[in-house]
Amino acid sequence: MLSLYNSLSRSEEPLPDQKKIRLFVCGPTVYDYLHLGNARTYVFFDFFAKFLRARGYDVDYLQNITDVDDKIIARAMTDGTSTDKVARFFTDAYFEDMEALGVDAVSTYAPATQFISQIVAQVERLIDKGFAYKIEGDGWYFDIAKDPEYGKLSGRTAAQAEDGVSRIDDSIGKRNKGDFCLWKFTQTSLSDFEPRWPSSLGPGRPGWHIEDTAISEFHFGPQYEIHGGGVDLKFPHHEAEIAQQESASGLEPFVRIWMHTGALTVEGKKMSKSAGNFVTIRDFLEKEGRHATALLRWMAFSHHYRSPFDFSERALAQAKKELETLYTRHMELHGCTPEDVPAEWMARFNDALNDDLNTPKALSVLMEATKGGTMAPGAKLMLFSLFDTTFGFDIGKTASLTDAISEEITGKFEEYKTSRSNKQFVQSDALRKELEGLGYEVRDTEDGSMIVKKFF
Ligand code: AMP
Repeated sequence: MLSLYNSLSRSEEPLPDQKKIRLFVCGPTVYDYLHLGNARTYVFFDFFAKFLRARGYDVDYLQNITDVDDKIIARAMTDGTSTDKVARFFTDAYFEDMEALGVDAVSTYAPATQFISQIVAQVERLIDKGFAYKIEGDGWYFDIAKDPEYGKLSGRTAAQAEDGVSRIDDSIGKRNKGDFCLWKFTQTSLSDFEPRWPSSLGPGRPGWHIEDTAISEFHFGPQYEIHGGGVDLKFPHHEAEIAQQESASGLEPFVRIWMHTGALTVEGKKMSKSAGNFVTIRDFLEKEGRHATALLRWMAFSHHYRSPFDFSERALAQAKKELETLYTRHMELHGCTPEDVPAEWMARFNDALNDDLNTPKALSVLMEATKGGTMAPGAKLMLFSLFDTTFGFDIGKTASLTDAISEEITGKFEEYKTSRSNKQFVQSDALRKELEGLGYEVRDTEDGSMIVKKFF
């Protein structure tokens, strides 16, 4: 049975026992191209939704798009264009990037600007119930002191919440430092660049946190099964979502299981636009060429989704090496008929994923099982296909079975091995070089020498 780590209870829990699973994952703020850190989070939840569907769950996967935000306004001002144009351009770029990464499990994308009436209605409910207050000339704010459970996700108290202030939440008139903005009145300083909507709250635009709960309440109702996002969103964003929705509806829990992906880092520092240590998805795809998607997916799944994952040239080289090994092994199955994977190996694969989606352990099953005489070649073929469908590696397509290593290459490799075992190193070195020139690499491993076609 699948168990998942719930950031709220801080323990592993079984998936709710029902066929229908409603999954909400925070979408991007569309003011720029996405980077590999964002890709890690979206690739993971794409895998997760597909994995649940393959097990027979009916997954309704909802994702918002933050298309109204200070960063979008700032970008429009810099570029001398409208926020609407900025948001549309980068939403399209986001969809293109996701398509290139094979991320296509989302059932519904919900741009915030299409949910203004739901946002206003939710803020009105919070005002009616006494959770929100007005700061003249500024906006409507959530009073975190009114919610005794505020802080239950992140473990922070209202008194510690000042670092939760971000984006548009700054105001000198707030009751508590950690109070956050629900609705920002139109500011004259931002003039024409600021999007605004007339409303019963006064002319303005939504705060950052309220769009998600207004959207999820519209699509899913006040309670649902799983909410996901990067760990950086746990506080203040997800904490604020819980406070808003549970205060507005009076029902808890808002969400049964909270899932957070660890950060993709560079030299230990979270990859982010503001730190300047980012690689955009499109630059990565262009640089790494035709197998870039498999490479990114392999690297992502080689790490547990909750662990940090340091992106480096070394990690990249390692992933290339591992994938090449697998491509070569797949090619060697030329002419085999698919057959069932032995139950013992299937159990190892399933046990790994059932344990809070331990993908690195699952990948090690593929590595180990396809190595030597572990199972029949036809079963290996099936195992490759299972991993391709589960993780989107496309090993089968990349290393086509008709592309088997030719007799000429195999012959030269056999000669290499013979000369090496006879300690005729001048000869074996020459053969190694010759094979390299033909696009093959000879690797001498603990299990003996192997020949690998160069794919990168
Ligand atoms: P944003 O547009 O900043 O809200 O980010 C979109 C998604 O990417 C959110 O779920 C973030 O938590 C996630 N994200 C941002 N940076 C990283 C990173 N370095 N590693 C993993 N996930 C990230």
